Amino acid sequence: MRIPFVDLKVQYISIKQKIDDAIADVIDETAFIGGKYVKTFEREFAALYGIENCVSVANGTDSLYIIMKMLGIGHGDEVITSAYSWISSSETITQTGAKPVFVDIDKYFTIDVDKIECKITKKTKAIIPVHIHGQMCDMDAINKLAEKYNLYVIEDCAQSHFSEYKGKRAGTIGVAGSFSFYPGKNLGAYGDAGCIITNNNSLAEKCRMFANHGALKKHEHLIEGINSRLDGLQASILSAKLPFIIEWTNKRKYNAFLYNKYLKDIPQIELPKLRDSTQHSYHLYVIKANNRDDLKTFLSNNEIETAIHYPVAMPNMKCYDYLQDGKFPISTANQSTILSLPMFPELNESDIQYIANKIKQFYLV
Ligand SMILES: *Cc1c(COP(=O)(O)O)cnc(C)c1O
Repeated sequence: MRIPFVDLKVQYISIKQKIDDAIADVIDETAFIGGKYVKTFEREFAALYGIENCVSVANGTDSLYIIMKMLGIGHGDEVITSAYSWISSSETITQTGAKPVFVDIDKYFTIDVDKIECKITKKTKAIIPVHIHGQMCDMDAINKLAEKYNLYVIEDCAQSHFSEYKGKRAGTIGVAGSFSFYPGKNLGAYGDAGCIITNNNSLAEKCRMFANHGALKKHEHLIEGINSRLDGLQASILSAKLPFIIEWTNKRKYNAFLYNKYLKDIPQIELPKLRDSTQHSYHLYVIKANNRDDLKTFLSNNEIETAIHYPVAMPNMKCYDYLQDGKFPISTANQSTILSLPMFPELNESDIQYIANKIKQFYLV
């Protein structure tokens, strides 16, 4: 039995006709860039979130960059984010001209709110909480700091579609939420895709303009922008998947419940902790394991594919050598212990039992 880390094919097969029809329609109408399918997806996604605006963009990296740029963040500014994330969360800060300021993480893998205040300076303009793995950050504490120091809160929701904090969905709490629809994300296109959601109408309009060469109408360039648009094919695929997303998210949660159940009595591993008053969307199910590298090899030899998200915390990456801004003990310790187990909605109970048994077997020998 081979268990992949993620299986995008089974999901396609389960809704094949809908996807194939969606693609055929776009080609039939040659609605390749912008147009009706993009507008429809934006409307549907905004409605699902109960939010005023959804601005589609080319990917979930551009969405972060565009939000910051349109909030006026740039040279001389500082932006605080988590030490442990995908590099988009920090490289986009640098792209605006601002300086990324990293904060270590807590036991939930999210930014440690007790370590933020000492990193705030006169130059700080924003905080980017990353709801990593699908786990929400401590948003009350972050909002409190943001209010006290007049900072923007920009949520990186690339891994947290339909995660919730005290009944509010990820992306609806800060000034804007940034989403990725990279194929492997909880809501994935068949190529790169992303969006920005916000209740701030003027921010939405600016983002829309900037993402389309600074124009809302063709050839009326009010500002200089970039080319970061969602194409019709991706939009129609996302629309075809949208009716299933809540069900798929619930399946992920159930799979996490099963992992918790079958893995609970293994002293050599630590299971993911869930923050109170939140709904985790389990983009990833990440354990901490003794002897992690050997466990990973053992599972691989037993045809169980695992991954490491991520092997190196951002402050420890070569590209951030120049920052030299402090210590990140939790992030650094995690580098050698974290292991992402297979996680996708179509994973079934027998797969999870099999994986759990193999992990037990590894620690017994
Ligand atoms: C995937 C991801 C991004 C970037 O999304 P892309 O669509 O790949 O550009 C940003 N932040 C986090 C936390 C991510 O996981």
